[in-house]
Amino acid sequence: MTDVADRATTGFRREFGAPPAGQWAAPGRVNLIGEHTDYNDGFVLPFALPLRTVAAADRQEGARWTVWSELSGETIDFGADEVDEPGRVAGWGAYVAGVVWALREAGHDVPGARLAITSDVPLGAGLSSSAALEAAVLTALVDLGGLDLPAERQPRLAQRAENHYVGAPTGIMDQSASIRCRDGHALFLDCRSEGVEHIPFDLRGAGLAMLVVDSHAPHRHADGEYAARRKSCEAGAERLGVPALRDVTVDQLDTALARLDDPETRRRVRHVVTEDQRVLDTVALLRAGRVREIGPLLTASHVSMRDDFEITVPEIDTAVEAALAAGALGARMTGGGFGGCVLALVEADAADPVADAVTAAYAEQGFRAPDHLTVLPAPGAVRLT
Ligand code: ADP
Ligand code: MG
Repeated sequence: MTDVADRATTGFRREFGAPPAGQWAAPGRVNLIGEHTDYNDGFVLPFALPLRTVAAADRQEGARWTVWSELSGETIDFGADEVDEPGRVAGWGAYVAGVVWALREAGHDVPGARLAITSDVPLGAGLSSSAALEAAVLTALVDLGGLDLPAERQPRLAQRAENHYVGAPTGIMDQSASIRCRDGHALFLDCRSEGVEHIPFDLRGAGLAMLVVDSHAPHRHADGEYAARRKSCEAGAERLGVPALRDVTVDQLDTALARLDDPETRRRVRHVVTEDQRVLDTVALLRAGRVREIGPLLTASHVSMRDDFEITVPEIDTAVEAALAAGALGARMTGGGFGGCVLALVEADAADPVADAVTAAYAEQGFRAPDHLTVLPAPGAVRLT
């Protein structure tokens, strides 16, 4: 298959009969560590993938947006009336209309535009194709219209598109990662202040690579379980008299746990508090250039998600165990849980054998074969041409 950017330009020419004014690319992401910490005002540490969504785009007259996506094969068209009423544009077009809506709502004079969208981020695999789509469209519209919207304010706007127009209650991580990540770095994001720091994450220099395994596990009851976990965390924070679980440190954990009489709430709180600390410990190791030493923290995060937060599923646990048994330095589920992807930190030349071991373990359990790819931390959203 030809390159994702070439396909966007070809698609634009075919659909609209002219070359685009430019191309904007935005990546999918994985979260290195820090799961279910975002809505507890805590810390996350995503990095951008080399998989990207590309928008080839140009302005058009009036307040109209015409959008072709290779993945759906359709071209949709909407005007300001539909944009100004969240929900009017449904399906995948809602992510695009949502970005236009959020920009208009923030007072920007959004140019009418034609867009051709291509992507190699798999949809719904937990690699955030939704944020990649929002970020590609947002950066295209900002540049085409010369809008005054610096990068640090863009994630909040893309998140509003997804929360209010699409209606998906996501945090700020995905959009921050897709827009703000840097090549060779992870993005340390404080979900309370929304402050970010770029942390060197030089896998290549350390002779390492990250294997990403798409578990193919169906997302069983993911929405209901997610809501239940949020509720437990809120209940725990309330019982402890803190604004959010972020305000409990590991030093205070034993005392805090002793004050909670419900064993389930105790486990949920323990996950969040220890997970925040694991993010901080990972950041400290990466800052010191001790990349390979983060492996045990990744694995500890997985154990905590499996035993305390109870959000893993058999396919995911099988992939983690098989990767570790085959020599991965650390492995964990990434994303909200009940499916999605597993990360395994591996020696650069061990990615294939570790992936093969996971595939073999899947076959033994009778699971549908997983997909995998090997990645290094990639850049965030950029204008290509
Ligand atoms: P994830 O973000 O983990 O991939 P989501 O459910 O949040 O999963 O978002 C997936 C949805 O985003 C798809 O169902 C589709 O509506 C939309 N989407 C993402 N990328 C594209 C694309 N390139 N073309 C059309 N729709 C897309
Ligand atoms: Mg998403």
